[in-house]
Parts: sequence; structure tokens; C-alpha cells
Amino acid sequence: AAKAAGRNCFSYFTPAMQQAALDRLRMSNDLRRALDAAQFEVHYQPIIHLMTGRVVKAEALVRWLHPTRGMIGPAEFIPLAEDTGLIVPLGDWVARQAIARLAQWRRAFNPEFQIAVNQSPAQFRSNDFTDVGWVQELERYGLEGNAVVIEITEGLLLNAEPRVNKNLLMFRDAGIQIAIDDFGTGYSSLAYLRKFDIDYLKIDRSFVEDLDGIGLDLCEAIVVMAHRLGLEVVAEGVETERQRDILARIGCDYAQGYLFSRPLPAESFTALLSAWPDPSAP
Ligand code: C2E
Ligand code: MG
Ligand code: MG
Ligand code: MG
Repeated sequence: AAKAAGRNCFSYFTPAMQQAALDRLRMSNDLRRALDAAQFEVHYQPIIHLMTGRVVKAEALVRWLHPTRGMIGPAEFIPLAEDTGLIVPLGDWVARQAIARLAQWRRAFNPEFQIAVNQSPAQFRSNDFTDVGWVQELERYGLEGNAVVIEITEGLLLNAEPRVNKNLLMFRDAGIQIAIDDFGTGYSSLAYLRKFDIDYLKIDRSFVEDLDGIGLDLCEAIVVMAHRLGLEVVAEGVETERQRDILARIGCDYAQGYLFSRPLPAESFTALLSAWPDPSAP
């Protein structure tokens, strides 16, 4: 049929597309093996309370230490992990790592330290999600639910299915906190902020980058709205002292970004916590 249609008809698979499909297949096979081969590592990025300058939370960010390609960031493999279902066991693994570290850091540094963990919609919708992990895992270390913050994106809450609702309620009953990640970049129906019990808005990095432009008004508006609704605000992607100062001035509660630290392997993060200046010290 393609031939009959003549020169104007495209064949569906160009060589480039074939190559891309092959790469993807190879990568998803690699990915499946990677969990058994212990090729993943969780890195931690500090979240700073702007008023006191203390590190009060860390965000857990997964990396893939690929045997031939080196360290691969989550943007490159999380979508694939979602498509293949691997996100569920991978997510459980990240959660267990993060909770074990949290227990250690609470004991050694700060009994109120919190860990933030990203959850993709695929995890939220998975069947086993309610059965595994969080609560039992926290209990193992004698930790309360409010030691953990789950980061989700706005899209999940728009037309939330019954199962999503159920999981959100389960989190709330356990005392686990919820943050909206990349706030302001998704569908902006704000009604969900009232409908669901949200604890934090994380202002997307794109607004923080633009504090000399419209980003300033947007950040300020987000802070005012969040506080009115009883939520706290975390700014993402803070890279300069100036950005930090502006965010502090407009009342943003927390900041995270390369200015403070890149995401670090657990041991380096422990070192960061021990070296961090204690503002209450004489
Ligand atoms: P996110 O949750 O919005 O995480 C923040 C991203 O911004 C991280 O990228 C972090 O390294 C980066 N970042 C932090 N500070 C700065 C800064 O000052 N400047 C710049 N340019 N970037 C900064 P990363 O680690 O590559 O993660 C990308 C995304 O992958 C995350 O975005 C999150 O959506 C997803 N992700 C990471 N770990 C997990 C996980 O364990 N499970 C799931 N489901 N998703 C994850
Ligand atoms: Mg996040
Ligand atoms: Mg984010
Ligand atoms: Mg972001």
C-alpha cells in the first residue's frame, strides 16, 4: 500500500526510529537487571529552613550507576521505569533506603529531620501500593508518619481516581505529609488545594530562575496563597545568594538548590550534616 501511494507516503519506521526503539529495548532490559544488580543509588539534597538557616529535610533522588554508561539521572530512566512497571519495586527500594538513612540522621543530628521522596503517578495507581512499605517500614525504626514527605505532581490530583484518593487518605491517616512538586507548571486547577490535605508547595525552578522577571510576582503570589491556605512553601533550584535573599524576603519557608548543595551520596550527606553551622551555637 505504501508503494501504491507513491512518493508522498512515509514509511512508518525510519532507520532513526528503528535505532531509537532498539536503544529503548536495550535500556529497558538493562533497567530490569539493574535492580537485582544493585546498580541504583539514592542521593540526598538538603532543604534549608530560610528563617534559621538549618538543614531540616532532605530530598531523596535516585541515580542509576550504569556499568558502561556511568551515572544516569532519573529524567532518563524514570519514564521507562514507569512504562515497564519497574517503578513499583524501584520506588519501594528507594523508600526503604531513604527511611533507613532518615532513622540514622534523626538519631545523630536532629530528631525532627524529615525525608522527602518522589512518587510518580504510576506508583500511586499501582495495586500493591497500599500494602507495601511505608507504615511498616517506618514502624521498624520507631518513626512517626510525619517523618516523611511524599512529593507528587499536580496532574495526579486533577480528576483523581478512587485509588489515588484512597492512597492519599492512607498517607494522611498515617501522618505522612504531602508536597506538590514543580508547582505552577501543571494544570492549574487550584481547587485541589482545598479538596486534598496538602502540606507543601514546591515552587518550580523555572520561576526561581526568573526572579528578575515575572517569576518574582509569581513566587510572591504562591507564598501568599499557600500561607492563606495553611501550607508551607519550598523553592526549588536556588543557585545564588540573591535568589535566596529575595525568597527569604517574600516569606518563602524553605529553599533547595545548588547554592546549598547538589544531591549527595548518603555518606557525603552525613558529612554535610556534621559540618553544617549550628545557628543556635554561641
Ligand atoms: P524533582 O523532584 O523536581 O527534583 C529536583 C531536581 O532538580 C533534581 O534533579 C535535582 O538534582 C535538581 N536540582 C536541585 N537543585 C538544583 C539547582 O539549583 N539547579 C538545577 N539546575 N537543578 C537542581 P534529578 O535528581 O535529575 O531528578 C529529576 C526528577 O526525577 C525529579 O525532579 C523527580 O521528578 C524524578 N525522581 C528522582 N528520584 C525519583 C524517585 O526516586 N522516584 C520517582 N518516582 N521520581 C524520581
Ligand atoms: Mg521532587
Ligand atoms: Mg521538583
Ligand atoms: Mg522541578
